[in-house]
Amino acid sequence: MIDFRHKEVQVEAIGRGGIETCYILPHYQVAFDVGRCPDNLVDIPRVFLTHGHLDHSAGLPYYISQRSLRHLPPPEIYCPAEIVEPLGEILRLWQKIEGFAYAIKLTGLNPGDAVEIRRDMQIVALKSLHRVPCRGYAVLRRTRKLREEFIDRPGREIQHLKNTGADIFIEKDMPVFAFSGDTIIEFLQENAAAREAQVLFIECTYIDDKRPVARAREWGHIHLDEIIEQRALFQNEKIVLTHFSKRYTKRYIHQVLEKKIKDKNFLERIFVLAHDN
Ligand SMILES: [Zn+2]
Ligand SMILES: [Zn+2]
Repeated sequence: MIDFRHKEVQVEAIGRGGIETCYILPHYQVAFDVGRCPDNLVDIPRVFLTHGHLDHSAGLPYYISQRSLRHLPPPEIYCPAEIVEPLGEILRLWQKIEGFAYAIKLTGLNPGDAVEIRRDMQIVALKSLHRVPCRGYAVLRRTRKLREEFIDRPGREIQHLKNTGADIFIEKDMPVFAFSGDTIIEFLQENAAAREAQVLFIECTYIDDKRPVARAREWGHIHLDEIIEQRALFQNEKIVLTHFSKRYTKRYIHQVLEKKIKDKNFLERIFVLAHDN
């Protein structure tokens, strides 16, 4: 597992294209995708599945079963609305095989649907474009800021206005974290929350000419060249590239990035989430 941290966002991450994807955000007590169910996922009560490909979802019955065995509260599982039925069916079969009932809450989400995970925090499903139904996700935190006309007023006056209940604040849902799931590059154009998230985890399955852009698109994935081409869209403080094909070593990925990305400012904002093979 790779520990990623940027300001308030902490992620325990496994991200290997075609092998396993699971991102655990312990501070928010949520995970995105379950991969093959790493041990530290079992304590997390809420998981959001991007799609049903097994490198993202294989560990689901094991995760549920382990929570039942440990008498942990029923997990909340969110998935694309299109697969809620077959997923429910396969989980019913696993209960039959295992000989005990799973307590679960399985909910399908469409793009735009939101789930409140804390009083000031919600997770919104984003439109992803893959070969099978897929959702990206954004974590939004509600922030309160002074209205512009009050910014220069002295603290005493602000306090007084606050006490009188005056409308001096604006509330804004700020995207702190977003994850693309598996998708083609249009995901970026489609989702402002992804472009604006403080931290964006975005798939970058292919990086060189042996697997060119056309091939990436054909398989519903993103090529590094497309990310470079669209770099003006990224307003993120940190851009985490992930889901690299297993044919690349970590060293090779760094070499290719250094060679291809001429914009140093852009390169500095990139974090390569690649494992040692
Ligand atoms: Zn995948
Ligand atoms: Zn996939």
